Amino acid sequence: MVPPPDNDWSLRDMAKYPFLEDAKEYIKEEGPSFDELIQDRLWGEARKRGKERVLQTLNEGRVLIRDLEGEIKQEEELFSYPIARMLVSSVGDDYLLRRYTLGEAERVSEEISREEDDKILKLSSRLDLNSDKRKGEFTVHFSDYLESTERLRSSGWKLVNQDLRDGRVYLGKRRFVRILKEKVSSIISEGLPAPTSDTILEKFNSELEDIKEELESVRTRMEEVDMGEVETELFPPCMKKLLAGQKEGENLSHEGRFALTAFLKKVGLSEDEIIDIFREAPDFDIDMASYQIQHIIGEISGTEYNPPGCDTMKTNGICFNPDSLCDQDWMNHPISYYSIKKKNEDKDQEEKEEKE
Ligand code: SF4
Repeated sequence: MVPPPDNDWSLRDMAKYPFLEDAKEYIKEEGPSFDELIQDRLWGEARKRGKERVLQTLNEGRVLIRDLEGEIKQEEELFSYPIARMLVSSVGDDYLLRRYTLGEAERVSEEISREEDDKILKLSSRLDLNSDKRKGEFTVHFSDYLESTERLRSSGWKLVNQDLRDGRVYLGKRRFVRILKEKVSSIISEGLPAPTSDTILEKFNSELEDIKEELESVRTRMEEVDMGEVETELFPPCMKKLLAGQKEGENLSHEGRFALTAFLKKVGLSEDEIIDIFREAPDFDIDMASYQIQHIIGEISGTEYNPPGCDTMKTNGICFNPDSLCDQDWMNHPISYYSIKKKNEDKDQEEKEEKE
């Protein structure tokens, strides 16, 4: 087996960080050909791991870290990465692509957290991040900081709230790793979905069927979340703000009214209960409000509208006061926010009852 070209960065490192240039180069120079990778018995384990990577992102929310003792395991791990990308690209489902990207980024973040500081800085420079360590803390050039935290919405990430000295942002390890995770996530998502081919579809037919089946069952599980009693204090910050604005008679934008109504319906409020909330506004007009609400909840159009996701909320300027839960990579919908809060609260309640 030919050793990797850069002794500073081992095969094990490439297996852990397969999206970096060194790893791509190694795959190209030292790896099997495309045909060998997808057909040869020698690479059966890499194909198996590729499928496992995808299924784990669906079932566990992240790719689980594997034991990487020995070059054979390291190569299998490394070559399983392009296989996983072929599989998610061939299914071609946006939700799967998003979940896969986040699942890989979660694994990488866990790997980085386990590394020594020197290794973390080497990785950071491979990610083109202007960073170093000063006075025991990680620092990042402010322009790189701004670029890397673009998607982090809570105020704790705003530049004005950072320890900024001489154009550099000082950070503890946990926050620095979070920034690296953001960079990694955008690199992993680049080029996805990749073009697929008849050969790939044919060769991976059974793997693709299994992934599609799992994807459907995850979707069904998500739809079956029982919202139970509606608890407004567990609403996401955006909905709390819209709700408060509505009650205080603020003139909500069309998008704001729409998002709030569709959200309230989704979490289990009846048409009458929604009307009662809108009734509290000083400019309340029962006919107009009923018409709008009935339209959104599907009584007029026959189509029940889903509340918009976080990206749309942000575009419409109604993603208010995002908090640390909003900052989680996988958080992409106000309904997900609410259902997580509900689940946590139910769990706390059960634990309390058990203790009593
Ligand atoms: S991130 Fe999403 S859930 Fe959080 S406030 Fe913005 S829109 Fe609401």
